[in-house]
Amino acid sequence: MSGHQTPAGAPHGSDGLNGFHVEISKHFAFEAAHRLGGLPEGHQCGRHHGHSYRVEVRLTADELSGPGFITDFGELEPFAAYIKQSFDHRDLNEVLNVEPTSELLAVHLARWFIEHVEPAIPGRLVAVVVSETAKTSATCTVSERK
Ligand SMILES: [Zn+2]
Repeated sequence: MSGHQTPAGAPHGSDGLNGFHVEISKHFAFEAAHRLGGLPEGHQCGRHHGHSYRVEVRLTADELSGPGFITDFGELEPFAAYIKQSFDHRDLNEVLNVEPTSELLAVHLARWFIEHVEPAIPGRLVAVVVSETAKTSATCTVSERK
């Protein structure tokens, strides 16, 4: 094995993926309360209640960088901080200016990620998945962007 080659034989930073599509994902979690409007009388989601929310962020890139990364997971720290500061142990009805459904929360988080995190990382957002329970989730998939 020569000194400037990785064990796989490709030089650092030029690992074209030759048609393969690779994604990474990271999970984040927070606890919050919400209440949904516009529902029939007696609907359980119309009452104030809480969830242990789980947020998954999925990223891709056309090429890997550094040692073979889409994005160093450590570079997602600003997103973790935003979730903690803005959502953890809060009432989502007070935090969001839209109805706090999983769907609209996923869209909100995707927009924030694209505006605040994506410019500083090599990867690009594929989707944000928001889960309120172990059995349910909403996925906001990002359309192709130039
Ligand atoms: Zn709920």
